Amino acid sequence: MLPYYRRVHRKVDGRELVLYGLHPLEAPPLPELREPLSPNPHLRYHPLRQEWVVYAAHRQERTFLPPKEHCPLCPSREGGFPTEIPFPHFQVAVFENRFPSLVPNPAPPPEGLPVPVGRALGRCEVVVYTEAHVGSLATLTEEERLLLAWVWRDRYRALYALEGVRFVMPFENRGEAVGVTLHHPHGQIYAYPFVPPILERESQAFRERPVLLELFPHLEPYRVDGEEGFLAFVPPFARYPYEVWVAPLERHPGLWTFSQGEMAAFARLLGRVVARYDALFGEAFPYVMVFHAAPLGEERTFHFHVEFYPPKRAKDKLKFLAGTELGAGTFVVDALPEETAKRLREVL
Ligand SMILES: [Zn+2]
Repeated sequence: MLPYYRRVHRKVDGRELVLYGLHPLEAPPLPELREPLSPNPHLRYHPLRQEWVVYAAHRQERTFLPPKEHCPLCPSREGGFPTEIPFPHFQVAVFENRFPSLVPNPAPPPEGLPVPVGRALGRCEVVVYTEAHVGSLATLTEEERLLLAWVWRDRYRALYALEGVRFVMPFENRGEAVGVTLHHPHGQIYAYPFVPPILERESQAFRERPVLLELFPHLEPYRVDGEEGFLAFVPPFARYPYEVWVAPLERHPGLWTFSQGEMAAFARLLGRVVARYDALFGEAFPYVMVFHAAPLGEERTFHFHVEFYPPKRAKDKLKFLAGTELGAGTFVVDALPEETAKRLREVL
């Protein structure tokens, strides 16, 4: 295991903040803002799609693209504006989202609705990758990225241990094109009380066949990059022009079963995929990155992988999900995966 330090701090509003670092963090906390919290999300069932919808009305009040000096994800400064992290320094910080869609102690859902309702049990966390306001997975140092990978692993452990949690998903939304409201390098983690529809389908597929293991021997034309034991590739069935997946060549249910060497290889490859994206059009490339690890109970067949969905078709063209994608679930793509793989391979 990477020798890292972990410090748990309870914020004045009751939320948990966990600081991770390669060195002990001993500074006393700085003053915090005490802002009222009233998250009261709940679930309603969609009877035709047969899936849950989460209602979290308070999310409308989220901080929207604040100026740099009011970034809530920067460290707090003595005498300065109190941020979410009341310490002068940190390496990686994880805290409970102030605008959660799922909470550890949800209020009972409303009564009298014409569809089944449920408690929005779970947890939503923010993962701040670095104290530096500007940067990305690509610009972190190798050591910082490896620490971050260990943090994800620790969060999987902590969140799957919560009562009622059935699926845990770290993800990152990057760029205003995908609706990012804060630019400071960060991701999020959702711990769900159910297996969401996409994971239900993937779990089913892996129960039937080792889909990725069967695919790997055929991926040479789709290969983007690799590290010992890992492959980054454009799936031959990509639904986004520059979609990339990162997966271990041997089946792992999640990164919690990676060896030390695999943790390092995975972290390096993830950073290089983002570096390739940024090199593509010479600017920060927007994407949604999701980790698909085994939902609870699927550990024996599920194959961990990371999926990147970038919304760009070209430097100045966004791919919008519209009629056929939203209304029918059928994607139409105007670039062939073997061609976008070649571009991503040659760009670095
Ligand atoms: Zn910041």
